[in-house]
Formats: sequence, C-alpha cells, structure tokens
Amino acid sequence: MNREKSVAAYKEAVQYIPGGVNSPVRALRSVGESPLFIRRAKATRLTDVDGNRFTDFCLSWGVFILGHAHPQVNRAARQAIANGTSYGIPSLQETELAKLVNRHIPSMQKVRFVNSGTEAVMSAIRLARGFTRRTLIVKFDGCYHGHADHLLVSAGSGVAGLGESSSAGVPSGFVACTISIPFNDREAVGRLFREKGEQIAAVIVEPVPANMGVVLPHDGFLQYLRDITAQHNSLLIFDEVITGFRLSGGGAQKTFRITPDLTTVGKIVGGGFPAAAFGGRNDIMALLAPDGAVYQAGTLSGNPVAMSAGIETLRILSEEGFYENLEARANAFFPALQDVIRGKDILLNRAGSMFTLFFKADKIHSFEDVKKTDREYFARFFRFMLAHNFYISPSQFEANFLSVAHTEKELERFTKAVKMFF
Ligand SMILES: *Cc1c(COP(=O)(O)O)cnc(C)c1O
Repeated sequence: MNREKSVAAYKEAVQYIPGGVNSPVRALRSVGESPLFIRRAKATRLTDVDGNRFTDFCLSWGVFILGHAHPQVNRAARQAIANGTSYGIPSLQETELAKLVNRHIPSMQKVRFVNSGTEAVMSAIRLARGFTRRTLIVKFDGCYHGHADHLLVSAGSGVAGLGESSSAGVPSGFVACTISIPFNDREAVGRLFREKGEQIAAVIVEPVPANMGVVLPHDGFLQYLRDITAQHNSLLIFDEVITGFRLSGGGAQKTFRITPDLTTVGKIVGGGFPAAAFGGRNDIMALLAPDGAVYQAGTLSGNPVAMSAGIETLRILSEEGFYENLEARANAFFPALQDVIRGKDILLNRAGSMFTLFFKADKIHSFEDVKKTDREYFARFFRFMLAHNFYISPSQFEANFLSVAHTEKELERFTKAVKMFF
C-alpha cells in the first residue's frame, strides 16, 4: 500500500502541530504506524490522501452511527449554514434538540449544550459539587471522561484513596479531590462510602466503559452505585458520551434500567459536529446560571449548524426499527467473528454495536485485566487490518463501532480478514 502522501503530510504537520495531530491517539504511535491523512469519508468508507480506501470501524470514535456524510444530515447542516453559522443569541434548533434528547433520555429533564464531551463532564461535575456542597468525586480506573484537570487521575500505587495525576501539569491539589477505584469492585465502593460518604459529591461512571476497550458491568454493579449514592445523598453521573444513542435510543440507562441524577452525552448528539450536552434532574439543573449560582457558558454552545445535524441524526434514530436493524447486523456479525477467534487466546467483548478484541486475555472485568493484554500482538493485528483496508480503532484500549451503513458484505470481509491474520 502506497502511503507516500500521508507520510509527506505528516512531515509537514509536525512542523506546525505538536506530534502532527490534534488528539494524541491519531498519531498511531502505540501501533507502530504514522498517521493517515484523510481526504474524504462516505458511509463506512475512508479515503486517504494517497487514494487508499478503508472500511471504517472507528467512525470518528463512534460518532457516525449512520455512517459518514449521511445525505439527510448533510442537507440539514447545509441549510443551517445558509442562515449563518453562529449567533451568540438563542435559536429554535436548541430547544428542538433538547426536546429530542429528553424524549430519548427522560432523566435529562433539562439539557445544556456545550461543544465537547470534556466540557459536558467538566460542567456536570461543577454542578454536582455546587448542588451537594461537597468536594470529592469518585471515578473508576480506565474510564475516560475527557481531559479536564481533576479527571486525569489514575489509581495510586497501593494506597487506596491516593490518586496520581495521569498527566503532567495537573496540580496535586486538583487530583486530591478525585478518587479513582477499580471498575466492578463493589467492595472498594462500599469501603470508600463508609470512610468518606459525607464528602462525596458524585460518582461518575461510563455505565459500559468503552475507553479501556469494551468492559461489561457485573450484574447489579450499576444498581449498587445507584443505591449507595442515593443513601449518602451523593449524585450518580452517567457519562454516556459514547453509550448515549448507541446502546439504545435511551443509552445505557435504558438498557440497564437505572436513572442517574446527571447524564453527559456527546459524539452522536452533534451529528458529526462539535456538540455535546449534560442534563438531569430539574432541581439540580436549576442551580445552573442564569437561574442559579453555578457558572457555565460557551460562545459557540448550541451552535445552529451542530444543532441541526444533531436534530436530523436523532430524528433518524427515532424511526421505527432503527436499533433493531443495527442490532440485527451486530447479531449476524459477532457470532461469525467469535467463530474465527475460537481457541486463539483472544477475547471478544461486545455491548450492542460496540466491541473490542482483547489480545491474550481470557477475562476482562477491569482496567487491571486490560493492562495484562498483549499490546504488541494487538499492534500487529492493527497493521495487518490496515494493510487489508480496514481502519479499526488504533489502540487495545479503545472500542470499535458498527453503523447501519456497514453492509453484510463488509462485515463478512472483516471477519475473513481476521481469519487470515491468524
Ligand atoms: C469521548 C469521551 C469524552 C470526551 O469527549 P470529547 O468530545 O473528546 O471531549 C468523555 N467521556 C467519554 C465516555 C468519552 O467517550
């Protein structure tokens, strides 16, 4: 495969952009590659600057559940652009999308739009602290909630309750306000609440973590979080930036029948434009400026182009049979994939239309388990798939995604390529 133009583009990019990329994982370093530069995308097909074509299983990290450049979504965005791309003054689209979000995820009684998942989580946390008048945030190792300072915390070595920053530039005082514990570990949660329950503002969780690869919650784990937070007057925040509008129209909270106090959504909700949202109980959201004392704002928040693309996307998702159709595709694909990896020391973890193949693993319940996988083996797999024109998510710690645009033939070809790799 000729990748000359991508290599040249990368050489030029690094002169002006740190690492040549605007988000680190795109650099493809952990899989021993240099970045692809994409010229266009349509449905499931990416075309790079050298003219190579790839079937996309990353889909801009799950954004394109309808496939890239969906004609109706693009038309909605084009119509919006013709009317001006930002006002800094309310538009009708904001209420329309808020209504659609609320109809899909009723626990989001009020919705505030922002520009990224990071911003949504950061704001939800500030609100939780303002509402409870408490400081501590509990998160889970391996769950990703964007790059706000106080969430870049990884488990400390040994001593429970002492987190370490996972990035330089984060003051230890920030990290001291967040405690990270193992996912699926009820005991650790229980212990923490016994010791510090009255200081805990909120527990934030990806209900089905997808940022350490897809990891499933144990039966009753999410319900346990719901119960223990309620007992201690702490809030439960579901970070559904990936799972919202993906696991079901109502996100993971519908699938697992848990009502969190606050929810964040992103990725799909902007229809491919930079938009995300947080929302939840009326009484909590009432604390947000201008009604209440918790400040939060954004120049481009509720942007009319992003709102229009989001509205069209959510409308299509609301159509009769949409998720059944997506699920049917997944139900045909995953057993075939499972057959191919049988006896190969590879674990397929799947939730709805998202999945991860873990290399050299027999069980994955937490980040500790994920860290034991064979990253070099995964890197070889990535490079093989790329050479065979499949773009999968470029890290063992990420999820892959199906869309309704993936054809039966593409899914069969994918499975065949995996078989060839072995
Ligand atoms: C992607 C993601 C974020 C961050 O969203 P950005 O738009 O990249 O800032 C936060 N939480 C989860 C669960 C995510 O998957």
